[in-house]
Amino acid sequence: MSGARVLVVEDDPAIRRLLQAALTRAGHVASTAATAREALGLVDIERPEAVLLDLGLPDRDGLELIQLVRARGAVVLVVSARTDTSEKVAALDLGADDYLVKPFDTEELLARIRTALRHRRSGMGAVQVTIGIVTIDLEHRRVTRDGTAVHLTPKEYDLLAELAQHPGKVLSHAQLLRTVWGPAHERSVEYLRITVRALRQKLEPEPARPRLIVNEPGVGYRLVID
Ligand code: CA
Repeated sequence: MSGARVLVVEDDPAIRRLLQAALTRAGHVASTAATAREALGLVDIERPEAVLLDLGLPDRDGLELIQLVRARGAVVLVVSARTDTSEKVAALDLGADDYLVKPFDTEELLARIRTALRHRRSGMGAVQVTIGIVTIDLEHRRVTRDGTAVHLTPKEYDLLAELAQHPGKVLSHAQLLRTVWGPAHERSVEYLRITVRALRQKLEPEPARPRLIVNEPGVGYRLVID
């Protein structure tokens, strides 16, 4: 994949430099902002494809920036020292594409950027998603494993399809419950657990050690595509 325009929003100068250097080495064009105000200005001028967003900014809470940045077409990866899972959930529900906790591994960060950009560039309209031996045909609502049709219940299929439409992205429990079961069941996390378990039994080579549908503890689930 060719390099992308990436904006780093971070008030800590050491982390800002580290991120800029890592992004440049990976072939991206990185610019930086130290405040929310500066970030919003640069988003309009430079039109970055991805924004790495610190939540603890001096002038504004980073959470408030997520929707503003998303509305301008960039993917948002939150890079925060806040380990509280409710912060992660809030960031994802506001539209962040991913969330990394400091201190983070630079390679992991670069991989997450690639995933978010690939998804954005390929668009939401993919009709078929293949992960290893599993293929999800979103147009015909058909799932195969090693070429053999897998029978899924409607909820199992809807959940898998929702994850498949956002490959590599963490979707929060509430997001998944709202989409698959409806807004009234936003807190019925048990429904989700049962359905994920059933999907793993049907799709994972080793259901007890899931590699396809992975758990982000306290936050949600992610369909792993790499
Ligand atoms: Ca900060």
